[in-house]
Amino acid sequence: MTITSAPRGPRWAVASLRRWPLWALPPLARAYVITTAAAAVLAAVVAAAYTPWHPSQIPAYVLLLACAAAMIEATRDVKLARDTLTRDLQEVWYVAIALLLPPVYVLLAPIPLVAMKQWRVRRNLAHRRVFSIASNSLGYGAASVEFHSGLRPLIDRQLPATGHDIALLAAIVAAAVTGYLVNAWLVVGAVKLTSPTARIRTLMFTREAITTDAVVTCLATLIAFALSFSLAALIVALPVVLMQKRFLMHSQLVAEARTDAKTGLLNAATWHREAATELSRIRGYWSPTSLAIIDIDHFKLVNDTHGHLAGDRVLRVVADRFASQLRDGDLIGRFGGEEFAILLPATSGTEAGRVAERLRGHVGGTPIVVSDGQDATIGVGITVSVGVAELAHSRQDLDELLAVADAALYQAKAAGRDQICIMAPGLDEPRLPGLDEPRLPVPPGTGPAAPASQ
Ligand code: GH3
Ligand code: MG
Ligand code: MG
Repeated sequence: MTITSAPRGPRWAVASLRRWPLWALPPLARAYVITTAAAAVLAAVVAAAYTPWHPSQIPAYVLLLACAAAMIEATRDVKLARDTLTRDLQEVWYVAIALLLPPVYVLLAPIPLVAMKQWRVRRNLAHRRVFSIASNSLGYGAASVEFHSGLRPLIDRQLPATGHDIALLAAIVAAAVTGYLVNAWLVVGAVKLTSPTARIRTLMFTREAITTDAVVTCLATLIAFALSFSLAALIVALPVVLMQKRFLMHSQLVAEARTDAKTGLLNAATWHREAATELSRIRGYWSPTSLAIIDIDHFKLVNDTHGHLAGDRVLRVVADRFASQLRDGDLIGRFGGEEFAILLPATSGTEAGRVAERLRGHVGGTPIVVSDGQDATIGVGITVSVGVAELAHSRQDLDELLAVADAALYQAKAAGRDQICIMAPGLDEPRLPGLDEPRLPVPPGTGPAAPASQ
């Protein structure tokens, strides 16, 4: 049997161009991606026109690109976390190229490296890869221009031998930071334009992200500094960067194992473990503590009407909306399919009722935009029911508290959904709130109110 494929003429090319996912982006995001890519091309062309080429620079360039490629190859089988800015440590090589060679080299360097990632590591949408090339190009191109046109000549002219090396180190730090900042903020801009609900704080300012970025910048600086004396430093630099990347991936994998991939919240097992630890800590110095279980109402209908992908997006947005309303010490996790659990330390049942009311209002207030499966989007309005339980006494364990919150949730559902129900020791019966009255002090040792007949 022979298989023949249709001839690929200009019509085929136009048709496949039309199918590019780039055109499906919101107009502003599309314009942003195209403008960034065009700016990178322009910068590379201008730099190429003004760079006097020296064949002697080629071996260093090839060597540094080979190190970057070796790193991609050596760690290609480990998946990285989604939904965070990926720190793949290629920055180290970009900084080295930016500082050792004229700007045009680093402006071009991301092309083979990102193409290699696409080919060897993971297929990604073409426009994302192009954007990644452009943002790296512009970021580290800017670092290179800053270093070669501003800092380096200044240092060489102005400083005597003694202060020279320290000033050089400071200049490398400044250039590395510039490269990182320009690249990172270009990417954040793209993420915000394509998914407006993404939070800059989670992308850039978690403790883990800041530590990683600081480590990468220090490593890049040290290696560029050493290489500015001799390329022989690569013999030590490559294994160090490789090990550091393995180490980062390991901590990233640990973080991934804690979270629920769909919502980015803690997964059920981790939430349960951490909530139990928090409860036993609270036992040492009694303070009112509450727990809320939230269930999306008629979620099956969302799936049945709009499809599972839309359902997944709703879950993600709901999780984001919850997380944006909580304090740092509150512990939220995805408890089951469309259920969420929140431990609220130092919070009485009445206060937890207010929090739950706020969450309910915040989630139900604005429809969630999902794709309708074709080219259009559609707003899905959802409501949630919340069961709130207050810790009754210091010996009550997490599973008992969960059982009370679950019973309260059942009450909220039975009472018509889209509402909250509180069960707390000071209340004789479950309360569907008017929440204004001050709460009675918690008498330690009293049990939870029994759920009303079910
Ligand atoms: P109720 O108001 O009584 O809670 O009704 P409900 O439809 O929300 O509850 P039910 O338990 O009948 O259905 C839950 C649905 O949640 C069924 C299941 O397909 C859906 N679900 C669970 N996990 C996921 C998920 O990860 N993604 C999507 N899209 N749907 C999920
Ligand atoms: Mg439900
Ligand atoms: Mg449910």
